[in-house]
Amino acid sequence: MDLCSAYQAMPQKNCGICAYASCSTFLRNVIFRGDSLRKCLWMEQGYPLDTVAMETLVQAVQPKITQVKPAALIEPCTTQSGMVMAELYLAHREVEYGYLDPVVCDILPVWTEAVRCSRQLGIARIEFGQKEILLSITGKTIIRRAENEEDISRTGELLSRIVEGATICTCLSTRMECISGVGTCTDSNPPNITPEERSHLQWVDDVAGRIRDTWKTSSSDLGSLSLRRQAIALLASNNGGLLLLSAAHHLSLLEATLTDLKEHTSFLSEETPTEVRALVETALTRNDGTTYHDLCGFLLEEKPPLYKELFSVIFHTHTISKIREQYLT
Ligand code: SF4
Repeated sequence: MDLCSAYQAMPQKNCGICAYASCSTFLRNVIFRGDSLRKCLWMEQGYPLDTVAMETLVQAVQPKITQVKPAALIEPCTTQSGMVMAELYLAHREVEYGYLDPVVCDILPVWTEAVRCSRQLGIARIEFGQKEILLSITGKTIIRRAENEEDISRTGELLSRIVEGATICTCLSTRMECISGVGTCTDSNPPNITPEERSHLQWVDDVAGRIRDTWKTSSSDLGSLSLRRQAIALLASNNGGLLLLSAAHHLSLLEATLTDLKEHTSFLSEETPTEVRALVETALTRNDGTTYHDLCGFLLEEKPPLYKELFSVIFHTHTISKIREQYLT
């Protein structure tokens, strides 16, 4: 069993109930740190596999070892005379859980439309100008049809910046998750915020208002794609962007959950218990830590209808709020 296939078998709800910011981070902690699959309440209820079936998959997972080589291997292109190709390695250390999280397949298409990314295979193929890039989640990268060594070096650096949010930290979270401050990572340097990024982050400041408004309307579009584009542009120009990308990531997960919830007609309807309505609306309009923890506890204890989805909404709203608190106040 390949690590990428095991990722695919997870619920993909990224709801935070297991105390990790994503299903893939939880899975790495189960495989490499011995955490319990039972923390996922989706799997406990058999979605999409039950815990026992997933346990069997997990036991068969083979590690995904990163390869580390100091210098790119550059040679003439076999198909294009006068051009070069290179094999390079983005990882700086050898680890068994791979270099990139599958979330890289959400990031790359925002950078360029000319990409095909397979979560199942753990590989992306990118057309970048005249160049072709093959990127593996182990960090191994092949660049074809480059002009020269300098072109290879520039492209490798650019690619490293674009995918940085998807790189896996020693705490097993992605770098995007680490810097949002929701986990317990002690190995992550806070990003330097450039003035450009700070001005874009102000944009995050009114997200809470839009979440509140969206909650009450039929729209689930909170603008995460636009925020991601701004983040990638900043990353490409080496002007920050990582924190903004983290905010956009949680915003997109929030959008996905809101879309799911809108399909349930009973969601926040007259049938919803009054205390759930009150707590959810309070959490969305005033996200202080106490309200967040109170609400999480209440949802897990009382298990009202759609409590897992509600947990996800609260989790991502809280994370966006934490980013704002840490970096803008
Ligand atoms: S609890 Fe949520 S985030 Fe954790 S593995 Fe399950 S679905 Fe994914």
